[in-house]
Amino acid sequence: MQSRRQFLGSAAAIGAVSAVGSAEATAALPTRADIIIIGAGLAGLTAARELVKKGKSVIVLEARDRVGGRTLAQATQSGEMLDVGGQWIGPGQDRVRALVDEFGLKTYQQPHTGTKLLKIDGRLRSYEGDIPALPLLAKLDLGHMFSQLNKMAETIPLDAPYSAKNAQAWDNITLESWKQEHMRTPKARALLDIVAQSVFGAEAGDLSFLFFLFYLRSAGTLEKLINIAGGAQETRIHGGTQQISDRLSAQLGDALRLNNPVRAIHHGGDGVKVIADSGEYNAQRVIVAVPPHLAGKISYNPLLPGLRTQLMQRLPMGSIIKCIMVYDKPFWREDGFSGEIASDEGPLCAVFDDSPEGSHEGSLIGFIAGDGARRWTEHTRDERRDAIVKQFVECYGDKASKPKEYIEKNWLEEEWSGGCYEAFMAPGVMTAYGKALRAPVGRVHWAGTETSDVWCGYMDGAVRSGERAAAEVAQLVA
Ligand SMILES: Cc1cc2nc3c(=O)[nH]c(=O)nc-3n(C[C@H](O)[C@H](O)[C@H](O)COP(=O)(O)OP(=O)(O)OC[C@H]3O[C@@H](n4cnc5c(N)ncnc54)[C@H](O)[C@@H]3O)c2cc1C
Repeated sequence: MQSRRQFLGSAAAIGAVSAVGSAEATAALPTRADIIIIGAGLAGLTAARELVKKGKSVIVLEARDRVGGRTLAQATQSGEMLDVGGQWIGPGQDRVRALVDEFGLKTYQQPHTGTKLLKIDGRLRSYEGDIPALPLLAKLDLGHMFSQLNKMAETIPLDAPYSAKNAQAWDNITLESWKQEHMRTPKARALLDIVAQSVFGAEAGDLSFLFFLFYLRSAGTLEKLINIAGGAQETRIHGGTQQISDRLSAQLGDALRLNNPVRAIHHGGDGVKVIADSGEYNAQRVIVAVPPHLAGKISYNPLLPGLRTQLMQRLPMGSIIKCIMVYDKPFWREDGFSGEIASDEGPLCAVFDDSPEGSHEGSLIGFIAGDGARRWTEHTRDERRDAIVKQFVECYGDKASKPKEYIEKNWLEEEWSGGCYEAFMAPGVMTAYGKALRAPVGRVHWAGTETSDVWCGYMDGAVRSGERAAAEVAQLVA
């Protein structure tokens, strides 16, 4: 058998060879490396690349038949690649931006000029600029909400949110309880509900208030989370974000093994043995770069400590169905609309112009989120499509009634994600279990966007977590 160093050398020399996908092909390859990485999303692939740069050998085991995890591009009938997973990057997301630049991926600004629409309390309102068209009292309520939330979030230490001065009190309540106590107007409250749905795929009543404030702090401010210009929805990538993972994986060659769900990890004094569907793999250390609830489905021998085991039972994924309606052209622009819609009625709670730059086609992308996703997942795809067309006709008139194509991705039904965009915490979890989120257990290390203190839940957080886990492991592997 090749030595580990030879194996690494051969993978690097081959360069952009495709990953190994079939069981027979996998069986012929080395099964030993310095580090095994579980999951070929942005976190796992970044960790692998960083470790290879440091001269370590790696094997990456991925359950799916593709890389990219929660990023995925799908072609329209005319061949435009649209993101049905992670889509936007924004200012401050420097680590994912560095990869985009390194790989020479072309970016463009999310279109957002024109009239926006807001449907709240059964009434459709239009407005220009960033401040929704609401009565004065509701606007004041909203302004107060922004400043209060940002101020409280500033007190959260990113590396240990559970040690914030008010951590326990804030972790005892939900965002919903805070809203009921501190917001006065039904319309401003409805907007906060839409924020919870569109940012977390959850309801305000699902979310620990402490976790909400941590997440906000992790991005910077509430404005950064929800805005297009200057916020997390500012920039798109031509051809889709999955290309970042494609490029990362091309550098790994046959160290990447697709179709390889990991079922068990044996970890002990002298190494780890990882059991995947194609067989046994051995290494000095393992990085588990999968969403926490999926890490909890792997069997560990010896058992992990109680806090870690229970943490993995307590991090549910958000509920999102991402929907794209494709039209002959972006007709709403001709009528002065930006393509943005926010709605407390749905099915879509948030909508954006999804037309790729330079394309003749027009598309609108929207999210069915939180309770809406839990309700609409019980309907058929056609029923969802028809309801969304009705929503667009109400907003934009008859021109919206004849889409040429409908694309959707129901992330609730993805075995190897279980939902999206990310895992969230209900009350009590952060203070009781938060310290187990990143702490390695012997030779087992953790990555994934959920473990990042900066841009947690985002592609940037995933990349940062991969870099952090690689640095953690590199110094421990001889
Ligand atoms: C619809 C949607 C919209 C989003 N929008 C944005 C956005 O606009 N901007 C943004 O920054 N982020 C967005 N996100 C979030 C972003 O995509 C994720 O934060 C990021 O991709 C997570 O990367 P990861 O590597 O941590 O996890 P993942 O991408 O989940 O990767 C984990 C990998 O592990 C694999 N795996 C799981 N279990 C096992 C196992 N037992 N054995 C082997 N392999 C396993 C999975 O198949 C997967 O490939 C969105 C996500 C979705 C789904």
